[in-house]
Amino acid sequence: MKELEERIKQDGRVLGEEVLKVDSFLTHQVDPDLMAAMGQRFAEVFKDAGITKVVSIEASGIAPAVFAAYALHVPMVFARKSKSITMDEELITSDVFSFTKQVTNHVSISKKFLTSADTVLVVDDFLANGQAGSGLLDIVEKAGAKIAGLGIVIEKVFQPGRKLMEERGTKVVSLARIADFVDGKVEFAEADA
Ligand code: 5GP
Repeated sequence: MKELEERIKQDGRVLGEEVLKVDSFLTHQVDPDLMAAMGQRFAEVFKDAGITKVVSIEASGIAPAVFAAYALHVPMVFARKSKSITMDEELITSDVFSFTKQVTNHVSISKKFLTSADTVLVVDDFLANGQAGSGLLDIVEKAGAKIAGLGIVIEKVFQPGRKLMEERGTKVVSLARIADFVDGKVEFAEADA
């Protein structure tokens, strides 16, 4: 998605060898116009997949996921990292190792929001090592729901996330694909949409 690539070039900051900081439009401050355009793009790609729910993970997956859900006119449910005392119902859980925070989170979704009747589009902000994606796919599978695909805002091609997802038979659609960081600059590979 050209608009997203331009924004990454303009506002993204490369940290070290493998991290991109995009806190001015995606992971901290959120640009709603860009999110709406991305949501629309995901919706176009998956319009015939019979999606009944968009699933994501807090915190930075929520913004793109809610705009995808809005464009598809289906609910969005996000996996929570800490158990709230109001979550007294049965939960489906999975362990997710966080690439940026270097901690393992037990993430969960309430059983009442994900069932075998659902067809799910999983959406997240980044695809790096595939840990968040794997944890979310595990939860969707445990619920007995069907997985339509994984919608990613920014994929880092030089990390093994996509391979892991595709080995599970999951279709991956990334709006921006980063081939590499060269001298602090982003080099793009061809995006999926
Ligand atoms: P994975 O589980 O695929 O290794 O990483 C996915 C998660 O790590 C994403 O949900 C995202 O929050 C975070 N992440 C991975 N790489 C980056 C990065 O380069 N920049 C930022 N801001 N977050 C990242």
